[in-house]
Amino acid sequence: MAVKIHPSVDSGIKKGKADFAGGSLTCRCASDPVEVRLSSQTAHNHACGCTKCWKPEGALFSVVAVVPRDKVAVTKNEHKLKIVDPSATIQRYACTGCGVHMFGRIENKNHPFYGLDFVHTELSKDEGWQEPQFAAFVSSIIESGAKPSEMGAVRARLRELGLEPYDCLSPALMDAIATHVAKQSGKLAA
Ligand SMILES: [Zn+2]
Ligand SMILES: [Zn+2]
Repeated sequence: MAVKIHPSVDSGIKKGKADFAGGSLTCRCASDPVEVRLSSQTAHNHACGCTKCWKPEGALFSVVAVVPRDKVAVTKNEHKLKIVDPSATIQRYACTGCGVHMFGRIENKNHPFYGLDFVHTELSKDEGWQEPQFAAFVSSIIESGAKPSEMGAVRARLRELGLEPYDCLSPALMDAIATHVAKQSGKLAA
């Protein structure tokens, strides 16, 4: 049996639509769900093995993408949202009813990803969102209880799905972070 990564990728990855312009995310509350409107396609969608991202019950990985923060608007039941950990770099706004994270926001203006919110497009019924591109923080699933001896099978399954596994972020994103740091320190011209 294939290793289960996440319900949205386990039966194969569905490509997003190039002209997709956004949609709504809804939490899992049966009544008065929180609704968040994203008025843009997402980017850098990926499977994430860290212990902080929200993931559905039983999934080894979360699937998380970014979207410009000015394209994110809470359109229903905002009063149900609460920041999971106000001291964390990414302030994850979770529904106090069902526990789903609706968006994660960085308030530190010097952070390389400032201006981008983190979202889970599996919370949307709209179709066309960017498909996952790679897998990040793969080794970190051990911190959530995955067995070290299973990691070979997990990485093989990720590759089979077309999600190149990395133990940090992808090279493109690691380069973007380092470029940001180098510009701040003056090693690179801004
Ligand atoms: Zn909810
Ligand atoms: Zn994560």
